[in-house]
Amino acid sequence: MLAVRLHRHGDPQVLRVEDVPRPQVGRGEILVAMKAAALNHLDLWLRNGLPGLKMPLPMIMGSDGAGVVTEIGAGVDGFAVGDEVVIQPGLFCGRCAVCRAGRENLCPEFGILGEKIDGVQAQYVNLKPVNAYKKPTGLTFEEAASIGLVFLTAYQMLIKRAQLHQGETVLVIGGNSGVGAAAIQIAADRGARVIATASKGAKSEFARSIGAHEVVDHYQKGWHKQVLELAGPDKVQVVFDHVGPATWDESLKTMGLGARLVFCGATSGQETTLNIRLAYRKHHSFLGSTMGDLDSFKAVMKGFEEGRYHPNVDKIFPLEEIADAHRYLEAGRHQGKIVVRLPGGQY
Ligand code: ZN
Repeated sequence: MLAVRLHRHGDPQVLRVEDVPRPQVGRGEILVAMKAAALNHLDLWLRNGLPGLKMPLPMIMGSDGAGVVTEIGAGVDGFAVGDEVVIQPGLFCGRCAVCRAGRENLCPEFGILGEKIDGVQAQYVNLKPVNAYKKPTGLTFEEAASIGLVFLTAYQMLIKRAQLHQGETVLVIGGNSGVGAAAIQIAADRGARVIATASKGAKSEFARSIGAHEVVDHYQKGWHKQVLELAGPDKVQVVFDHVGPATWDESLKTMGLGARLVFCGATSGQETTLNIRLAYRKHHSFLGSTMGDLDSFKAVMKGFEEGRYHPNVDKIFPLEEIADAHRYLEAGRHQGKIVVRLPGGQY
């Protein structure tokens, strides 16, 4: 079968589409013929290599995808051959205290498909049943492939960590990215007032089209003043940030009394400064978050099933053009998700 494999870290040309043995389904596993897989910023980090990152190579890339169940191992209940599924990308032990408490993303053994073990940019993948979930009806495989990681991350951040309430004002930094677009939809569905940042023009239109009430150009110096004007006297209650140092200082200036800044990603760097006195006087909370728990994943799937959330697919590449797909993601001109289509997926 064909798969995208990483043998060494580097620029997009290190990605190899190669013929590898089809996995054998073991006890307690299912085999899924993948139809589509999506890219995440995580793919870029893994391809480039991060300081301290230990990932076994070669590795099949990919955390998000959708496909069809083709084989079922002994001891698996609840799946039938032909079931259309979406990938749940989190890996965890399922036995420890935090797993049993439903906080699986805090499991000491937590990892992500395509990072800890082989991922889903392959024609076939064998999975634990917990990593496959019934595909929401009405979504194509490409659409279903695009939703898992970003919606899970954004839901966990806004609903579980920041406890966003109806009527609050939320500032979504970088509303045109995959996770930003998911955050806009989740916040708007929650009944929050959504101010998003995006660059002017098409990106601003995109953010509005998926539910942002106001859009501010984050390339304009002093953009926080415009946010404050739009937010009114109570300012912003929740800042959703996946960018980090590049927008951090201006984000802080938008936060009202008791506001929460929830963050992940930090795509512009990993260090910043904080005025501690100002932060405690204003009762600010700073909430780090990564991935999400199973309950959040199920809530996201329910949101799609009920038509409250919608996929944001920007562009679909054939698997052979995976390097171009990475370049397109790195260029940062996308609006929503970049998906690769698997060839055939015969079953
Ligand atoms: Zn665990």
